[in-house]
Amino acid sequence: GAPGSRRPAPCVPVPHVPGPCLPKPAARAVGPDMDSLGFQAMDNNVPVSVAQGSDFGIRTYFDMFQKMEDTFKFCVECKKLPDALPDPKSLRRCKRCQNVYYCGVACQRANWPLHKKFCKKLKLVALDRLVEWLVFTGRARDASPAPRWGPDVKGWEDWFAMQGQLEEKLGAVLGGRYMTLLWANAGKPRPEEGELRESVKRLVTDFHSRPVTIGLGLRLFGIEPLAKPLTVHVVGASHVETLNTRATDYDELTRMFPGHQGMEVVMVGVDVVDGPIMRPPLAALGPRGRVYLSSYKGLYHDFWEGHVETQLAARPDLVVGFHPGFHACPDLLEGWLPTLLLLRDYCLPTLFTVYNEQELKASLQILAELETRVTGCAANPFASLRPEQVYSSPNKAPAYCSSYYIAFLGPAAAEAPRIGELEGDGGD
Ligand SMILES: [Zn+2]
Ligand SMILES: [Zn+2]
Repeated sequence: GAPGSRRPAPCVPVPHVPGPCLPKPAARAVGPDMDSLGFQAMDNNVPVSVAQGSDFGIRTYFDMFQKMEDTFKFCVECKKLPDALPDPKSLRRCKRCQNVYYCGVACQRANWPLHKKFCKKLKLVALDRLVEWLVFTGRARDASPAPRWGPDVKGWEDWFAMQGQLEEKLGAVLGGRYMTLLWANAGKPRPEEGELRESVKRLVTDFHSRPVTIGLGLRLFGIEPLAKPLTVHVVGASHVETLNTRATDYDELTRMFPGHQGMEVVMVGVDVVDGPIMRPPLAALGPRGRVYLSSYKGLYHDFWEGHVETQLAARPDLVVGFHPGFHACPDLLEGWLPTLLLLRDYCLPTLFTVYNEQELKASLQILAELETRVTGCAANPFASLRPEQVYSSPNKAPAYCSSYYIAFLGPAAAEAPRIGELEGDGGD
């Protein structure tokens, strides 16, 4: 069993997340002047590795986008792959969403009553899948001061409202040559500017959702970053959190808590991948006013025993798990059990996120069975707004990362008064 590591589980539909198998520009410039939006006008950084095809054996952008699309090429009605067809090229795409494929007219007709319920959303899914490439591509330097959060930022709408020159920044991305390059090679028609603009905005929320959700966790537990340096552990971190992650990717936390005393975010999980943030957790306090990312590849309870208890790494002020998925099947729960019990018994303030209400209920039930004290659960105002399709069966409602959160702290018994201690009857 591997706490927080073995997802996606085969027994549960998990939204497709771009894995290391997808061609994504490997080289991203790291700079301190990261654009406050989390993406940059793309023109300054040519992703050389992709252009030369050295990483994935891809020679041209067109081939790269084709290869990305290959993953989605199967008939959604009869599930046939192109290879199983007399003519692999006979696979046809739904013109409306540009997302799902059919082996022929018969399958398309048979599928329409179901597909028509999801076609519109799947169009956004397909669009975001392509535009995501821009977010991971070049990162130009932007010297404009990053906006600091005011006290009234309650959700993405507020967040966008506080961004200076939002329209100019979006305009630069839409008019940039990488956007042109994208649609010249995507093999799909370029959508209208308004649609593209919304797509870029959704991807910006997707990019910032994790750090901001950590910030939300700090707020929920009343942990005060201005009072002392903080350590946050991300349990069950995998390639989703660590692939191509740069040292500056969680800087939004600094804008969220201006003047903080220093924060370290440690990614812990057996599926953590090597990269810029693969560096040992700090034993001493992190740099004041900065966010420091580090990683540990391994099980959380091993990390705890080998590093936290031995004081090689700091004890966490907050533990966060993005879609731990322990509700999904008994095997996963078994893998997570040592971690869940550790979090409970050491009374560590913990925040987990889930994809939907169903997962929320199932996770809450398990936490109740483990007698943890759940201190809150609700829709996450900083959930990703990017829709993701359930990979092998697209005709389902798309999922959104970190849609809901669950906060828990310690064992249930610690706070629940025993019957004998209750005073009188308050009436409710
Ligand atoms: Zn078919
Ligand atoms: Zn469609």
